[in-house]
Amino acid sequence: MEKWTGFSPVGFQDIDGPSSMKEILGVLVQWLRLDDLVRVVCASRRVTIIVYHDPSPEALRRHLGYFAKRYTFITMDAFAQALISKRWQDLPRYPMVLTVDDGHVGNIRVLDVLAEFGVRPMIYLCSGIVGTERAFWWKTAAAAALGREALKCLPDAERRELLRQAGGDLDLPQGPRQALDWSEIEALSSVADFGAHTRSHPILPRCTDPHCTEEIALCKTELEAALGRACSHFAYPNGDYGEREVAEVRRAGYVTGRTIDIGWNGPNTDPYRLRVIPVRDDASTPWLAAQMTALPSWLRHLKLKIGGRLRARSKPGTSGGVGEKAPA
Ligand SMILES: [Zn+2]
Repeated sequence: MEKWTGFSPVGFQDIDGPSSMKEILGVLVQWLRLDDLVRVVCASRRVTIIVYHDPSPEALRRHLGYFAKRYTFITMDAFAQALISKRWQDLPRYPMVLTVDDGHVGNIRVLDVLAEFGVRPMIYLCSGIVGTERAFWWKTAAAAALGREALKCLPDAERRELLRQAGGDLDLPQGPRQALDWSEIEALSSVADFGAHTRSHPILPRCTDPHCTEEIALCKTELEAALGRACSHFAYPNGDYGEREVAEVRRAGYVTGRTIDIGWNGPNTDPYRLRVIPVRDDASTPWLAAQMTALPSWLRHLKLKIGGRLRARSKPGTSGGVGEKAPA
């Protein structure tokens, strides 16, 4: 049975509101040291996973400066090994794994920052998009015109066909390159590891069974052939997954599956349902501190859930479903 979880890749990060209010909240969190309190209570013996998409070098340098004083960076491999071998005691205190989704071309700009801080993130790549001029579908003009959230609700073949009719054929080059090319991936391999994020970044629960299998399994095969090394970690596009997707990720031979469900990861966390603490790529330091408490994400989650229930109540016969999800 299909289970919708998580939020959209861009819009899940925080509560709505003007940036000045976020700044005030962030400053208050720092003044009360709530971020440190939550860190000590929730993250000293549990793994914090952070998700980025396309951060600027300046923002990432600021964020890593904040994290470096409070956490110990570890790799996804080290985390997976401790989790699967039950050797949790091997992990340092306040362990943190950085992850970066999609393989945006801008990721090459942060190479020096990653080297500077000695952090080795897991970059999840879409094997059918990196190394090509194909577009990330949600970044096309066609998707903007049709409405990204509405498109996410459609069966995958219908979504692709609508985009094609609107001039956004996902099989054709779409103008300026949006994804990393293979030489950039090779350069980044000195400071990052690579995982899989499907071939074309569909909403997996909206795919047919054979298509879902293909997107998950072939991505691993293609990335391993191109990278010349094992690709053992997977991230669910848009954070959307259900029992079928978890089973497919396991069957394909991945050792972890990262969601965008909110939370920290302990020794009993399901390796195929890893949780994250959402932060914005461009968050100011006060707002980053607020986001590290996870409170903004929980508030947004609550707001979307209540909103979905109210909509369902006012329209008998409808359910919240993906309509509850935040705008991308
Ligand atoms: Zn993604």
